[in-house]
Amino acid sequence: MAPKVAIIGAGFGGLCMAIQLERAGIRSYTVFEKAADLGGTWRDNSYPGAGCDIPSHLYSYSFEKYASWTRRYPEQPEILAYLAHCADKYGVRRKIRFSSEVERAVFDGSHWQVSTAGATETFDVVVMSVGQLNRPRLPDISGMEDFAGTSFHSARWNHDHDLTGRRVAVIGNGSSAAQLIPRVAAEAEHLTVFQRTPNWVIPKPDATFGPLTRLAFHFVPGLQRAYREWLYRYAEGTLYPALAQGWSVGLLKKRALDHLRNQVPDPALRAKLTPDYPPGCKRVVIDSAFYPALTRPNVNVVTDRIVRITPKGIETTEGPYEVDTIVYATGFRSTEFLAPMEVTGRSGQSLRERWKSGAEAYLGISVPDFPNLFLLYGPNTNLGHNSIIFMIECQVNHIMSCLPYLSEQGPIEVRPAAMAAWSRQLDAAMARMVWGNGCRSWYKTADGRVTNNWPGPTTLYRRLTARPPRAAYRPADSP
Ligand code: NAP
Repeated sequence: MAPKVAIIGAGFGGLCMAIQLERAGIRSYTVFEKAADLGGTWRDNSYPGAGCDIPSHLYSYSFEKYASWTRRYPEQPEILAYLAHCADKYGVRRKIRFSSEVERAVFDGSHWQVSTAGATETFDVVVMSVGQLNRPRLPDISGMEDFAGTSFHSARWNHDHDLTGRRVAVIGNGSSAAQLIPRVAAEAEHLTVFQRTPNWVIPKPDATFGPLTRLAFHFVPGLQRAYREWLYRYAEGTLYPALAQGWSVGLLKKRALDHLRNQVPDPALRAKLTPDYPPGCKRVVIDSAFYPALTRPNVNVVTDRIVRITPKGIETTEGPYEVDTIVYATGFRSTEFLAPMEVTGRSGQSLRERWKSGAEAYLGISVPDFPNLFLLYGPNTNLGHNSIIFMIECQVNHIMSCLPYLSEQGPIEVRPAAMAAWSRQLDAAMARMVWGNGCRSWYKTADGRVTNNWPGPTTLYRRLTARPPRAAYRPADSP
């Protein structure tokens, strides 16, 4: 009999899992979604300018190529429309239970008891797909609650608040800030950008796809596949080696510094925007409109440390800045995987307890002692250089290959030896990567452990996740 599967989250990962179950003829699944719509991060991040800096034809499922992309780099509404298209085409929308936040999942010895506020239901398998960047992080600055103007986080954009004629502050200058700053600068009377650490920024060679190109993608056999393959190989062949501190570090650095020089004529501003840590240590910003926005006469970049927020604005070590609106583009609680859900495994231990010194999972997918529980976009599966959709598809394929085994054996869990070998491999590979030293980033815990990123080439990840599961898993009740 087909296992009963609970999928938690209806973003890119959860929808991919649901679609592959449908395609395999397994209909005994339910998707729990806490919000009233699907789309995950692409539903939540609707700030002006929101989009993806991975090309459209790569930032999509391999099994659902889409000839209709209107831009080389997709904007948020188009990505959301693509996800809705996939959910409808593959008939999974009807299986999504909207406005149903899972609060708890407890393994009772043979099944998972999955609880929302209203009910508890029994499942054989749970697939967690809640993302890494789903909980906004507001900074801890004194006086924030005293601010008399309007303030909100970039991922909770206040669309009712008109910025025209206002004095706006943006705190943060990561990928989200870089995308929204040009749009905010064009509307606001004045924009002050509070930058704590400069980022490495490289150009985003965006372009529109006109009707002819779209027709070609639609009708020329193999064109989309070839283009996608080229995009994938390019990212893998040039960007990955830079993150692994290999041959292309110099190239990446030169590209970023040339971009800065070309777009920012003022040497004082250039100096403020020049990072002093290796490129790739923090997520490289890929954007061509960010620097020009910073050179506008109504924009200034403040690098003094923020001391407090007052009713009138932001006070730094060098003085006060009066503003009407504060946008917190301050990122996400990225290392608190699955929070605030309570997940309890075979021996009664919670995942939070298990992960108190940093989240880890075999292939980023499975945790010893948590049978039949699988994670999508789990620990150490984020990328700084290629499409996360590729990783999600590898994970879904892996889970699909586990289903016949667990249907036959009962609950299965990853063997401690497989987990230990994985951790050793991960540590060895991580030592080569640029993320460890010299910067603070959302890739790591407060004590510096990189819990979010995958340190190898994605080709290796595909190979590892494609291995048959029997060597790494065992029936859950074996000693
Ligand atoms: P982020 O990269 O974590 O950036 C947060 C920013 O807020 C940083 O500049 C940080 O400064 C600053 N900040 C945080 N706390 C602060 C404080 N107390 N005082 C002053 N500054 C503070 O967050 P994000 O920009 O939302 O991006 C997160 C990730 O989402 C990206 O790295 C990317 O992976 C993804 N994303 C992707 C796209 C895309 O196009 N694919 C677009 C948007 C986002 P420090 O650097 O000093 O910590």
